[in-house]
Amino acid sequence: MRIVLVGPPGAGKGTQAAFLAKNLSIPHISTGDLFRANISQQTWLGKLAKSYMDAGDLVPDEVTIGMAKDRMEKPDAENGFLLDGFPRNVSQAEALDEMLRSESMKLDAVLDLEVPEEEVVKRIAGRRICRKDSSHVFHLTYSKPKKEGVCDACGGELYQRDDDSEATVRTRLEVYHTQTEPITDYYKAHGLVVTVAAVGTVEDVTTCVMEALKPDEDGK
Ligand code: AMP
Repeated sequence: MRIVLVGPPGAGKGTQAAFLAKNLSIPHISTGDLFRANISQQTWLGKLAKSYMDAGDLVPDEVTIGMAKDRMEKPDAENGFLLDGFPRNVSQAEALDEMLRSESMKLDAVLDLEVPEEEVVKRIAGRRICRKDSSHVFHLTYSKPKKEGVCDACGGELYQRDDDSEATVRTRLEVYHTQTEPITDYYKAHGLVVTVAAVGTVEDVTTCVMEALKPDEDGK
């Protein structure tokens, strides 16, 4: 399957993506994670991306599209992938379409995770992520680690992302509304969008997501 996950920052895309990718045996491709890996390795791409990310803005398409394409061309993505955070504007969606068309491939679904805005701000302000594995995500109120600052799953150090401060989150939401939301209309026109209310426990949302991805009775 080839799936795109969309939703505002804090919708739980990363959490759901990690689960879905495992369940469907496809790689989870997160452009945010790819940028963060470049930042920690201090590559030129990481240095360039950091200033945009810290401001809550999108990294320019010229570098983002190439990076996503390189990752999607790796052998493990041959039979499918789950894209998390890409595409994030209509030109990236068009570039993805073009890339898939040239390989005679197509997307199967665009999963749109919906969350009320104030919930997003609360979720992000308390979010803490493991340095060793970014799929290990905690929250200071909703999902506390047993030991403060330490990942329950692997013992890695928990940290707050530089772009998770409240001021940056407001910019990221604004960017989401103006640049990313239009891609849902773009994909709706192709009949690909499946909307899931991403509220309740992680398990509740996962159940709804799996249900939403099941083929209809007529096999679509
Ligand atoms: P995320 O981890 O998906 O929340 O992404 C964190 C940040 O990385 C975003 O706020 C952007 O600055 C940058 N980023 C991630 N994916 C993209 C993309 N597809 N296009 C442009 N910038 C991106």
